[in-house]
Amino acid sequence: MRPFPRAGTWYAAGAWVLTAATSSCTSLPQAPDLSDRPTPGIPTNAWDEDLAGKRILDSIGEARTGTDVVLWYPKDSLSDAQATEIVARLDKGIVAAKRIIGKPDWNVQDDRRVHFYCLPGNFISHAPGGNCAFIPVWRMQQDQSPWLHEAMHLLLKTDKGDWLQQEDSVAMRRMPLWLSEGMADALAMDISEQEHLIYYSPLIDVPPAATDSLALVVLRDAPSDSVLAYIGARGKLPQLWGPDRFSYALPFYTGSASFTRYIAKHHGYAPLLKANDAFNQEIDVLERELAVPMDSVKARWLAAIGYSDQPHH
Ligand SMILES: [Zn+2]
Repeated sequence: MRPFPRAGTWYAAGAWVLTAATSSCTSLPQAPDLSDRPTPGIPTNAWDEDLAGKRILDSIGEARTGTDVVLWYPKDSLSDAQATEIVARLDKGIVAAKRIIGKPDWNVQDDRRVHFYCLPGNFISHAPGGNCAFIPVWRMQQDQSPWLHEAMHLLLKTDKGDWLQQEDSVAMRRMPLWLSEGMADALAMDISEQEHLIYYSPLIDVPPAATDSLALVVLRDAPSDSVLAYIGARGKLPQLWGPDRFSYALPFYTGSASFTRYIAKHHGYAPLLKANDAFNQEIDVLERELAVPMDSVKARWLAAIGYSDQPHH
């Protein structure tokens, strides 16, 4: 997710990390041996705060490496046992994700691992690009982290283009936001189920099996018809960046997840993955792969979840 502003507590927390490190360094006669430290992750489209936090963790944070992930976190924020358990869980999900989306060799400049940067403070988890996801460390500590959703954004990036690097006005009109968010959610839900991992979303606070019934309720209560209009279509729902973003986000994200799951259930993930790879032609490719116009697919989905239009006046 990217649409919301963040609380600005990180600099204070970062200063705490630096202070702790400085004071412990004075008691060490030599710099610690960094030879087995993993190479830092490679971010793209990252926020300034991400990069500031990443720099601190890259130099003085803890790093725990698995087969397919690296977990970066402030010293003493996780116990050894916790870090080991988290890395095992993350590895399991990422291995399964690469297999299911057909990208076993996914890498960023030859690094095949997803780097999870667990930073202090409270902000919206996000994975803007490269191989780096940024997640509040308290979410990792409390096991309330959308890590798999965020990793899906990284794994699903296509080399044909990056919507986050397009001009804002172009992306607002043309990026099918429902598809990228819907696929991240649908895949995270299905992979969690298959791998017996706990699925967690800060926004969609129901078990995956209840997504459709939640979608029905929140779409009916949506503040505007525009929410439904942007599901299955090109463009980014502008209100997600406005003052009413919270009342728009729940129906938009839940509806997008429900619709994407409906397509995956009836047609498999292959058409969705092809569409996702066809940068700037996603909807055309999806219609071609499904051999059904989007309007019809959408009408069938809405019927399946029990949604019916308000009567016309
Ligand atoms: Zn997302």
